[in-house]
Amino acid sequence: MPLPSSLPPGAPVFAFDIGGTDIKAALIDDTGRLVGLRRKSTIVSNDGTADAVLGQVQQLAASLTRDFPGVTPQAVGLIAPGIIDDAEGIVHRAVNLNWTEVAVRQLAGAALGLPATFSHDARAAGAAEFELGAARGYDDVVVIVIGTGLSCSLFLGGRPHSAGGFAGELGHSIVDPVGLPCACGASGCLETLASAGAIARRYGLATGTPPAGARAVLAFAEAGDPIARRVWKDALDALALTICQLAAVLAPETIMIGGGLAQAGPALFEPLRQRVAARLSFHRHPLLVPAVLGENAGLLGAALKARALLKETA
Ligand SMILES: [Zn+2]
Repeated sequence: MPLPSSLPPGAPVFAFDIGGTDIKAALIDDTGRLVGLRRKSTIVSNDGTADAVLGQVQQLAASLTRDFPGVTPQAVGLIAPGIIDDAEGIVHRAVNLNWTEVAVRQLAGAALGLPATFSHDARAAGAAEFELGAARGYDDVVVIVIGTGLSCSLFLGGRPHSAGGFAGELGHSIVDPVGLPCACGASGCLETLASAGAIARRYGLATGTPPAGARAVLAFAEAGDPIARRVWKDALDALALTICQLAAVLAPETIMIGGGLAQAGPALFEPLRQRVAARLSFHRHPLLVPAVLGENAGLLGAALKARALLKETA
């Protein structure tokens, strides 16, 4: 089956994926093709407002409009990490962006002069995986995204479950109560061990030599570097523990893993499957599979939400 790399035909829209590291912007045309893609390093401002980021969003939108004059977007979908109420379009807290209680949907809609949606990044990516193929046929699904941070989206009985934005913060489930301090204020969160950011950071702290990224740490581990092996093993153990807890509590049929770390492929999935299989007993054993939409899943999900908004208001 060919992997879906674009959306079905529909209204042209902008999509913005605002991360702690960079902002990705896309323009999707009426055939569903992602015609323009831009990336900029995120300006995380100290003032706690979204002003700097919205300025970047405006610049990116202007650049896309200039380069693709034949495509006229009718709505915009934005996504970001954090505690986000999709229905209200508000971020309660986004640690990596230094945002607290910011009405991003309203501000972005006003800045771009378009109807806007604002959603959680992993939930949007999960919704894209759920709607466009990877999870088709399953009702109970967890989509985990492992990048700079770590979070998940939940589909229970075929419907997304977000609990007003508080569900799915898998990165801040505690796996070691006396573990490392987390940016969220707690200690021993999964994100401090198993996010791509944590893997790179822990290796850098232990060796005094910051690696190029989590994939570099994996390469060192495979080459026999004992510190890299320990850091990678800690990440796998923590992830497996969390997956077993998900299996016991929610019993998903499928757990999809996407984000930068999932590109490690079998080096991630094989040891995870072994650990999970060894630890579960009577539980429903979840199928552990890579997410298929790749790094643009979030953008596609943001675009789907922008299109859904146009349909709602039509
Ligand atoms: Zn935390």
